[in-house]
Amino acid sequence: MKICFATNNKKKIEEVKAALGPNFTIVSLEEIGCHEELPETGDTLHHNAFEKAKYVHHHYGIDCFADDTGLEVDALNGAPGVYSGRFAGEPRSDERNIELLLKTLENVDNRKARFRTVIALIFKGKEHSFEGIAEGEILKEKSGYGGFGYDPIFKPSGFDKTFAELSLDEKNKISHRGKAVQALALFLK
Ligand code: IMP
Repeated sequence: MKICFATNNKKKIEEVKAALGPNFTIVSLEEIGCHEELPETGDTLHHNAFEKAKYVHHHYGIDCFADDTGLEVDALNGAPGVYSGRFAGEPRSDERNIELLLKTLENVDNRKARFRTVIALIFKGKEHSFEGIAEGEILKEKSGYGGFGYDPIFKPSGFDKTFAELSLDEKNKISHRGKAVQALALFLK
């Protein structure tokens, strides 16, 4: 079954391919010839995920899904949330986002946070959505080199390692996107 994952993030594609298994051919935006930036104009993860999936479905006529993820920090009332990618402004930079978050939380004791992912799927003309959450906390400094985004400063609950120190397999099992993808896989299978 061929389905487009509306992203060019190689790490995400790897994660999703590993979760969905060999019965699915996952193609990236690049692979369907979509080189434009997808619209993300909403103020909720749900809105943005569907906006991206609908854009691809409408312009390229292929079943597809898109994800949108936010990091919700309790001490910041849920920010940066849907703006996590642009937290430190444009152009987007994981490095600057991490720096800004660490600086913002410099004297803050409550480090509780969670990643939330919404996956929007357009499949056989119908809309479906799936959500996954990973609870954890924001460390005071970076640790580990794996993963991407805020991984080096996010320690999932129940672990003594950051997401950046877990293997792809370990992260997939417990991560926000991993859980959303598992729900997607259960539906598609
Ligand atoms: P997006 O919706 O996937 O573009 O993600 C929004 C923001 O959250 C970006 O800054 C990403 O780097 C970050 N992000 C998304 N997924 C993860 C993850 O699994 N770990 C760490 N950061 C992530």
